[in-house]
Amino acid sequence: MFSLRCISCGSEESIDEIVYRCRRCNDLLEVQLDLERAKERVDKREWSSKPLSVWKYIGLIPVFDKSKIVTIGEGGTGLHRCDNLAEELGVKNLYVKNEGENPTGSFKDRGMTIGVTKARELNVSEVACASTGNTAASLAAYSAKARLRCMILIPHGAIALGKLAQAMIYGAKVIEIKGNFDDALSMVLDASKSLGLYLLNSINPFRIEGQKTAAFEICDQLGWHAPDRLVIPIGNAGNITAYWKGFKEFYELGLIKGLPMMTGVQASGSSPIIRAIKEGKKTIQPVKDPRTIASAIRIGRPVNWKRAMIAIRESDGKGETVTDEEIISAQRLLARKEGLFVEPASASSIAGLKKLIELGEIDREEEIVCVATGHGLKDPDSAIEYCEEPILIEPDLKILREVIEGVVIKV
Ligand SMILES: *Cc1c(COP(=O)(O)O)cnc(C)c1O
Ligand SMILES: [Zn+2]
Repeated sequence: MFSLRCISCGSEESIDEIVYRCRRCNDLLEVQLDLERAKERVDKREWSSKPLSVWKYIGLIPVFDKSKIVTIGEGGTGLHRCDNLAEELGVKNLYVKNEGENPTGSFKDRGMTIGVTKARELNVSEVACASTGNTAASLAAYSAKARLRCMILIPHGAIALGKLAQAMIYGAKVIEIKGNFDDALSMVLDASKSLGLYLLNSINPFRIEGQKTAAFEICDQLGWHAPDRLVIPIGNAGNITAYWKGFKEFYELGLIKGLPMMTGVQASGSSPIIRAIKEGKKTIQPVKDPRTIASAIRIGRPVNWKRAMIAIRESDGKGETVTDEEIISAQRLLARKEGLFVEPASASSIAGLKKLIELGEIDREEEIVCVATGHGLKDPDSAIEYCEEPILIEPDLKILREVIEGVVIKV
């Protein structure tokens, strides 16, 4: 039903062993679904009676021992029709898939429920990751539930406050590296080899298998079709890879007729993939010192760059970069038009869409889904910094009346 295959040379590795990379060419491994056998396991009628969740699609996920499943209610997030925002941007059909509604507040939970279930199937006792924040928060929660020890490497001073609080309260061993995310990742890769930790970073192919269910859900929520376009932030590029895999699997299983144009967005100070796309290059040029307010996508050497470029090119999609200013203003726009508070990295999909519409690169009639990857409360500091301050007064009704007359009524 499932096998593990190298994305470059196609050689196969055992799905029951701990391997992250191809032993022949060292490239990444991908779970391969046997489509003929999968077809027998897909029952749309059975699906229609089940609530939306990652585990609704268990027939298409490589989990072998159901007694090992570790779940705290992931997936089943809202696909919100955004007419106010659509009007503002000048498009007809716009939705936001709000992944902040997951248990720890980001899409990372979709991957971790599968990844940590896999860790239990493999009988490991300790798991680890390097993280810009949300992977850490999610792994810390799922490993607590699974009674596994958890070690987390984060770049010192570079992760949002809410995410740090989460990793700490869930009881992970948090180690801060005096360096950036790319440094933390290369250290955890080395440490996992010598110390025997099970790695749950983006190179782990099982996380992608959980994350692909977001694409399944979108098709399900739209009434069994894919949108014309999916707009998604890119950091390490695992998520765009997962969505593309999910849409393609549904397409190949005959569950949907068309595929979306995959549209990736990176922050302009951290955009190796989009730059390569725009310049028509085959490979990326890593960014040594990536900079952006959107810490979740502040990654200079994305692990999954190759598959992200395949997704964009194969789907006839696009890539766009956005500045920090554009990100912050899109974050505020989404909150004020739709009541959805997302973190800066998530708002980059809205910012990218806005830019592409203004550049005339997108047909206004398209049905568009923007992925909002994480909850706004993850990063309260940036929201507070860029909004107008509250009005501070003495507890005096007369002053209050003056303020209301002067400020609120006037507006
Ligand atoms: C992890 C993350 C991203 C980037 O996803 P990749 O799979 O690394 O491309 C974007 N936004 C948020 C909120 C994230 O947590
Ligand atoms: Zn290989």
